Amino acid sequence: MTKIFNNCVLAADVGGTNTRMAIVTESGDILTLLRKSTHCQDGMDEMIKFLVSFAREVIEKSTLPEEKICGMGVGFPGPLNAETGTIFNPPNLNGWDNVPLKDILEKELKVHVAIENDANAAALGEWWKGAGSGTSSLFCITLGTGVGGGIILDGKVWHGASSIAGEIGHTTVIRDGIKCTCGNTGCLEAYACSGGILKRVNDALLEEGDNDKFQPLTNLKEIDKMLIQGNEVVLKIIKETGVILGIAIANLVNLLNPEMVVLFGGVTNMGVNLMEPLKEEVMKRAFKKATEPLRIELSRLGDNSGILGAAKNILSKLQGRT
Ligand SMILES: [Zn+2]
Repeated sequence: MTKIFNNCVLAADVGGTNTRMAIVTESGDILTLLRKSTHCQDGMDEMIKFLVSFAREVIEKSTLPEEKICGMGVGFPGPLNAETGTIFNPPNLNGWDNVPLKDILEKELKVHVAIENDANAAALGEWWKGAGSGTSSLFCITLGTGVGGGIILDGKVWHGASSIAGEIGHTTVIRDGIKCTCGNTGCLEAYACSGGILKRVNDALLEEGDNDKFQPLTNLKEIDKMLIQGNEVVLKIIKETGVILGIAIANLVNLLNPEMVVLFGGVTNMGVNLMEPLKEEVMKRAFKKATEPLRIELSRLGDNSGILGAAKNILSKLQGRT
């Protein structure tokens, strides 16, 4: 067991677009935080080189002596084996197929490395220092370009038999519904990710309005603007999204009986128009005994949940807790 006292870890939240890296203390303070565009277009080798040089840059900028950095935690997008630190084959990254990223980073950076799926890392961060602090069970749902989920049970990430646990985005909410990127139909993600919401809003506006003058909305901010202007068609779709999310959350509440569900990501900026129908639907569908202790809250850490979860993951491993 490595002794951790007054020491720090390097933590990375790797995304398909941006990567954030920080030095985090064992009590969860973020010391040096940098953000860069992820170099992933040129394939796996280039992306690994980018991660290694970025890590070295953060350590250098922190001005901490290298022996103070006792490990590195990584939150990585896509399916992976958290035990071995092997990345399977992320759908959004070119050329990655069963890559032993943990071993590679350990060899390059000469520190212990722990890798966790990004949604699980976010859940762990919220449980450690965010909305779920003090709870023993939590389900964290990320609502952004995709819909992801992470499960914390008794203070630990629940991975399942083959590291797939928590994939709420690809649970079916509507039989024979919209086609999803995973190949299935009627998945939650097809309705509640940012692209899915935009498509449904644009389809509804097109049906209502004048086809010749129609300009499709391109981002969630434009949807927000139309909600503020009181557009009834857009409001109906956002409320319907809340209901669909509520159905999926009621299912997970009946299955896992968690103390808390934490929601984060750009889609949650829709505010009460999304959250009210969502909560109503959960209360209506889940068992009363399961909803009595339940809290449904928004993330308190926002963008830092992944960094703090990645840090907590390596800290726990170094302290021999997992
Ligand atoms: Zn799907």
